[in-house]
Amino acid sequence: MALAVYPWQVELARELHAMRDRLPNGLLVYGPRGIGTFELVHAFAKSLLCEHPDSDGAPCGQCKGCVMARAYTHPDIRYVVSEAEALPRQIPFEAPDNASADRKNLYREILIHQPRALADFLTIKSHQGGVRIVLVYPADKIRAEAAASLLKSLEEPPEQTVFLLVADELDHVLPTIRSRCRLVRATPPSFEQALAWVEQQGVERAEVRLQEVGGMPLAVFESDPHLTLAPDVEAHFLSVLRMGKAADNDVIIGNVPRDFPLPAAALFFSRWAWDLAGVYAGMQPRYFPEELEPMRQSLDGVTPAKLYQWINSVRDVRQASGHTLNARVVIEQLLLAYVRALK
Ligand SMILES: [Zn+2]
Repeated sequence: MALAVYPWQVELARELHAMRDRLPNGLLVYGPRGIGTFELVHAFAKSLLCEHPDSDGAPCGQCKGCVMARAYTHPDIRYVVSEAEALPRQIPFEAPDNASADRKNLYREILIHQPRALADFLTIKSHQGGVRIVLVYPADKIRAEAAASLLKSLEEPPEQTVFLLVADELDHVLPTIRSRCRLVRATPPSFEQALAWVEQQGVERAEVRLQEVGGMPLAVFESDPHLTLAPDVEAHFLSVLRMGKAADNDVIIGNVPRDFPLPAAALFFSRWAWDLAGVYAGMQPRYFPEELEPMRQSLDGVTPAKLYQWINSVRDVRQASGHTLNARVVIEQLLLAYVRALK
C-alpha cells in the first residue's frame, strides 16, 4: 500500500505526508484537471483520520477511522465539493433548498449553502481527538457568496482544523483564498508515464486517446456527453465520409440522424478535417488511424483550394456550434459540401 493513488504521484504524496505533523490551516493543491489530484488529497485526508497509517502515510483501511471515512460517516471530515465532482465519486451532496427538482444540469460550482453548513462543525471540538478536515473542490469554482463565507473560516481558523483545497486552475482561485493557504503544485505525468498507465487500463488506441485529451491520463475516462456522439450516429457519419466522392446526394439528404449534439458533431468533423489535411500533406491520420486508405482514395485528384474550402466550412460549423442551429440541417450541408469538394 502507498499513499499515492496513481504512479505519477509518489513525490507529491511524500510531500503531503511530510506535512502531517505540522499542518497549515489551509493547504491548496493545484494541478491540471485529469491527473487525479483530488483523489490524492482525499487519500491524504483519510490518512489523517486513520489511527494506524503506514510509515509512508497510507491509511490502514481497518481501523475505526478508516471504516468511518470510507462510509462517509466520519464526524471529523466535511466535504465542500461541487455536485458535478461529488456525484461521480459517490461523495454525499445536499442540493440547496431552492433547487428545482427537474433541473437538467448539475451544479458545477460550490454554492453558498455548502460553506454555511460548516458553521456547527467548526465550533465543536474534534470527535476523535485528532484533526478536523474540510475538503474543498474545485477551489477555482466557488460562487462569490460561498467564497466569502469560506474565506471567513479560513481567516479565523478553529483549532486543530485543516482546510484541504484542490484546484484545477490556480489562476481562477480568488487571491484572498490563495493567500491564506500554503500552495502545493501537482505535476502532471510525462506523456510516456501517462501512456503506460492508460495502456495498462486496457484502453484501445491509447496513444491517440491520450493525445486527444492533452496527455492528462484520467481525462481519457471523462467523456463530456455534450462532446460525445452516440456510436450509431458516429458510424453513420463515418460511412458517408468513407464513401467520399462516391456518396450521392440522396445518400446524404434525409439520412442524417435526427438527434445529436451539434458541438459533438462539429468536433468529430474537425478531427476528420485535421486528419484529411494531414494525409494530404503525406502524414499519418492521428484521430482516425484506420482510415488512411479511404482518406487517400478520397483525396485522389482533389485540388488544395477545394479541400481547404471544405476544411474552413468545418471550422465555421465548429465556431457556430454553440448556437441553436438545426444540427441535422447543418451537418447535411457539411456532408454535401464534402462530396462536392472531393469531386
Ligand atoms: Zn486506519
